[in-house]
Amino acid sequence: LNAIGGYADLLESGATGDLSEGQARYVERIKVGAGHLAQLIDEILAFTRVEARREQLLFREADLGRVARDAIAVVEPQAVSAGLELALDAPDGGPVVTTDPDKVRQVLVNLLSNAIKYTEEGSVTLSVGSLGPGGAELAVTDTGIGIEPEHLEKIFEPFWQAESPNTRRAGGTGLGLSVNKRLVTLLGGAIEVESEPGKGSTF
Ligand code: ADP
Repeated sequence: LNAIGGYADLLESGATGDLSEGQARYVERIKVGAGHLAQLIDEILAFTRVEARREQLLFREADLGRVARDAIAVVEPQAVSAGLELALDAPDGGPVVTTDPDKVRQVLVNLLSNAIKYTEEGSVTLSVGSLGPGGAELAVTDTGIGIEPEHLEKIFEPFWQAESPNTRRAGGTGLGLSVNKRLVTLLGGAIEVESEPGKGSTF
């Protein structure tokens, strides 16, 4: 995949001469396809790692406001191209907790990108707050399609996806939330969801 993406980049940059309009269009499709496959492989690897209990955690002091800003930066291009407002509601400096910040960021990026995928219009907000001594609560809220009450239990199961045209259009594997749940549990936390169909969801 690195070779496919890399050579497509080279072709696009004109390294072997100018591309015709049709060639440029096809090169773009190769890049999008390679990107989708890379994401699919990342999700399957993340799932396999947590299933095999091989996830390595590295606990240290971390400023969750900073972790949240990093996560927002990763998904910002996705939000811009979907025409959604992306907001961060976090206090300056803190809360500082002992955790694995890379895993927290991984979970946040996944929740944010779900929120963007399942929202047609409106906004996606990440808020960060303290929760008791040494703890924190992170919430990702969207104004999207929401989740039916009878599905709320199932969404954390591996490979489960709502039967809707929207899910199919959004792609995905149905693994993201099950990985998130496992990671959050390993970090000593819990993941919960509240949702109203047609109004939006908060994880
Ligand atoms: P994927 O997004 O790859 O399908 P996930 O495990 O991340 O898999 O999510 C499982 C299912 O839960 C999704 O297919 C979708 O039906 C539903 N879902 C997840 N996040 C949201 C959200 N923010 N709004 C509405 N539905 C959601």
